[in-house]
Amino acid sequence: MDKYNNKETINRSTFLSTFLDITKQGKKFFSYRSKRWILIVGIHLFFFLSFYIDLQLLEGSISGSRFLGFHMIDPYISIQMFVATYNLPINMIIGITTIIVVYLLVGGRSYCAWVCPYGLISEIGEKLHNTLVHKHIIKNRTFDQRVRHIFWFVFLSLSFSSGYLVFETFNVVGILSRFFIYGWSVAVIWVFVVFLMEVFFSRRAWCKYICPVGTTYGYIGKGSALKIQWNDNCDHCMVCHDVCFESQVLELTKSKYDEERAKKGIKTQYVTGTECTLCGRCIDVCHQDSLKFDFRLKELI
Ligand code: SF4
Ligand code: SF4
Repeated sequence: MDKYNNKETINRSTFLSTFLDITKQGKKFFSYRSKRWILIVGIHLFFFLSFYIDLQLLEGSISGSRFLGFHMIDPYISIQMFVATYNLPINMIIGITTIIVVYLLVGGRSYCAWVCPYGLISEIGEKLHNTLVHKHIIKNRTFDQRVRHIFWFVFLSLSFSSGYLVFETFNVVGILSRFFIYGWSVAVIWVFVVFLMEVFFSRRAWCKYICPVGTTYGYIGKGSALKIQWNDNCDHCMVCHDVCFESQVLELTKSKYDEERAKKGIKTQYVTGTECTLCGRCIDVCHQDSLKFDFRLKELI
């Protein structure tokens, strides 16, 4: 992408071009999208090798794993387990504590953009969806994103009333992760159905409206140290809104807040919405360099 000379909206950039960014001096470098994809593929490669050649580096799957013998577990699975069985084994307590500490540092929903294997597939679906919408072949349907809290609560209630981890039957994240590590299962058909829904019906619908895994990481991210920081170089071009599937979190980039900011002398602000996945797409496309990652640990302490 040549963001300093072009408006790199989803429809103006080819999918492949989004993996490389170009500096003002014309030097190419890996975009945040490339870095995220390399990490997601790398994580699953280690899972795969630990299983097939007994590498014993990263064992299990994305839902529950051991990294160098240290337990990690998906927080939503732990909560489902607790409400279903009223029991939380010590390994799960260690696993969930590790995950909470890590994501308090690196941003809750960064899991969605930097770790989740379905997030990667969903980005391909997003590009296909936007192309179809742009060509007026389909319409995008939007809903209130707060519906995700209802799904979160409903799936927990089902675990509580049935004694089973009901959501795990539908959890495309776990299904896809196990597919990459252990091979085909019939459940993969469900992942394909969700993907088709995102391509033909609603942009990033699973991640934006349904996935309780991402919602839980969003709750953790409320107090996280890593945030996106905006500065007043912004010329309100709205390209960041175009590429962000959770664009409500970028409300602060709108010009209507300039007068109030000028009165208060505010030059920088944090994106505080818990739906931000810290994917870095907005940074990749901002031609004014108005957005960057900022680690505000000192400020929080
Ligand atoms: S932050 Fe950057 S991409 Fe977003 S509106 Fe401002 S100038 Fe445009
Ligand atoms: S605000 Fe930026 S980092 Fe956050 S989800 Fe949107 S594009 Fe990704």
